[in-house]
Amino acid sequence: MTPLVHVYVGLGSNLDDPADQVRRALDELDSLPLTRCLAASRLYASRPVGPQDQPDFINAVAHLGTRLSPLALLDQLQALEQRHRRIRQRHWGPRTLDLDLLLYGNETLTLPRLQVPHPEMTARAFVLLPLAELSPRLPLPDGRRIAELAGALATPGEIEVLPENAN
Ligand code: AMP
Repeated sequence: MTPLVHVYVGLGSNLDDPADQVRRALDELDSLPLTRCLAASRLYASRPVGPQDQPDFINAVAHLGTRLSPLALLDQLQALEQRHRRIRQRHWGPRTLDLDLLLYGNETLTLPRLQVPHPEMTARAFVLLPLAELSPRLPLPDGRRIAELAGALATPGEIEVLPENAN
């Protein structure tokens, strides 16, 4: 059997009750085949990257243990996005649910459908801050640690932890 691999998934939403989209998706990640959610960050609210004429994003990061291969996990994540009826009218536009495979164990993958570590994760506060909350000492395959990358963000930007009972 495939060994258990520790993976991290970034979640984002800014449509149709985004906090609810993200909370439901965290539960659904725990129900994927051969996969368990081991920990989840708090929810964070941030201004959108790109066009500013859209609602704020709600983001979180999940730490999963999975026996799925990288592409089988990507298939599951994309199917889960579809179940949230993800709407993509434009690049960087509003979406009901965006799931990014940030890290798959210590692997570096460059496939037509999948790049791991996620190529933009080291520059994004809405990925690094929730990830640092879960696993600050976690190294990337190149040895850099999450807390170090989070501390080096040029513009941590407008990002804040969402209060527990907020919508
Ligand atoms: P996005 O706009 O972020 O939803 O991009 C989705 C596309 O990125 C899909 O076609 C995926 O196959 C591709 N992709 C490449 N690397 C990743 C990754 N690490 N996580 C999620 N999608 C990825």
